[in-house]
Amino acid sequence: MVGSAIDRFRGRVEQRVLTKEPLSSYTSFHIGGPAEYLYTPCGEEDLVCALRAARALGIPTTVLGNGTNVLVSDSGVEGLVVRLMETSLQPVMEKGLVLARAPMPLSSLLEFAILRDLSGLEYLVSIPGTVGGAIFMNAGSFSQAISTHLAYVEVLDRNLEYVLKRHEDVDFDYRYSEFQENGAIILGAAFDLEVGDGATIRSTAGRIRSEKHAKQSWEHPNAGSIFTNPPTTYAGKLIEEAGCKGLQLGRAQVSVKHANFIVNLGGATALDVVCLMDLVVQKVYARFNVRLSPEIRLLGDFSPEAAHASG
Ligand SMILES: Cc1cc2nc3c(=O)[nH]c(=O)nc-3n(C[C@H](O)[C@H](O)[C@H](O)COP(=O)(O)OP(=O)(O)OC[C@H]3O[C@@H](n4cnc5c(N)ncnc54)[C@H](O)[C@@H]3O)c2cc1C
Repeated sequence: MVGSAIDRFRGRVEQRVLTKEPLSSYTSFHIGGPAEYLYTPCGEEDLVCALRAARALGIPTTVLGNGTNVLVSDSGVEGLVVRLMETSLQPVMEKGLVLARAPMPLSSLLEFAILRDLSGLEYLVSIPGTVGGAIFMNAGSFSQAISTHLAYVEVLDRNLEYVLKRHEDVDFDYRYSEFQENGAIILGAAFDLEVGDGATIRSTAGRIRSEKHAKQSWEHPNAGSIFTNPPTTYAGKLIEEAGCKGLQLGRAQVSVKHANFIVNLGGATALDVVCLMDLVVQKVYARFNVRLSPEIRLLGDFSPEAAHASG
C-alpha cells in the first residue's frame, strides 16, 4: 500500500515538486523561508495522490492558497506545501447554484456572479485570495462573510476521504471556520445567490472597492488585517489610539494608512513582524485592557530556536 501510493505519486507528479523553494515568492507579505517541498497540483486527482504519498512517507503537509493571509516563518515550512491556486479555473452554474473549485481566485467567482446579475458576494470585492482560502478564513467585510451564501462545501477530511458538507452542518463564525481546527482540505463549494438588479450590484461592488482602496494599504506588501476585531470595536481603532500607527521594528511597520495592517517596507523578516505584533498587543492591552488576537495564520516554526537557526 505504502509502495503503491509513492509509485503513483512518482509516476504522476514528482517532476513538478520544487525543493527548498522560497515561499516569499508565494505570499502577499513577500516574507518567508523555503518550503522543503512545494507542489502545485494539477487537479484533484493529483492533489489526493500527493497527499497519500506524503502520508505514506510520514511527511507533514501544509496547504497554501494565494498566500494573502499568512505569515511564513523565516525558517520556512517543513515537509510538503501544497499550493491550491489556479487562475485558469472558472465557476459553472448547476441547478441554480454557482459551483467554484477551491484554487479559483475569488475575483473570478465575483466576476462570474456580477456578469449574471447574481447578488450576495459583492462584499468579497478586492479580497485577493482563493475560494478555498476565503472559506477557510470565512473572509468578508462590512459584517458580511463568504459563508452567508454557501450552500455546501466539498472537503477532503483528515483521512483523505471526500465529504460533502451542507452549510448548516459547518461551524462558521467571524473569521472562523471549523476547517481551522479539523484539518480538512477544502476542494470546492456551491453558492446560492439571488438574482438582483445588475446596476445596483455593480454600483455596490464599485463602492466597496473604492472604500477599501481608500482605507487599506496597497503600497507595500502586506497580509490584510493582522488582528481580528474585538466583539464591540475595531482592532485598527484601538491600535491607532494606542499610538501604534507608524511603529517600526526592523523593516516591518504598522501601516500609517490603516493601523490594522503591518507592511513590509522591503526586506522585513517574519521575526520583525511577530515582534511588532507582540508590541502592538502589549500597547493595546496596556491602554484598553483588550487582548488582540491574530487574524493572519502563522505557517512554519516560530520557536526562538528556529528564529536563531535562520537568523
Ligand atoms: C490587501 C489585502 C486586503 C485584504 N482584505 C481582506 C478583506 O477585506 N476581508 C478579509 O476577510 N480578508 C482580507 N484579506 C485577507 C485574505 O485575502 C483573505 O483571508 C483570503 O480569503 C485568504 O485566501 P488565500 O487563498 O490567500 O489563503 P492563504 O493566505 O493562502 O491561506 C490562509 C489559510 O487558509 C488555509 N487554506 C488556504 N486554502 C485552503 C484550502 N483549499 N483548504 C484548506 N485550507 C486552506 C491555509 O492553510 C492558511 O491557514 C486581505 C488581504 C490583503 C493582502
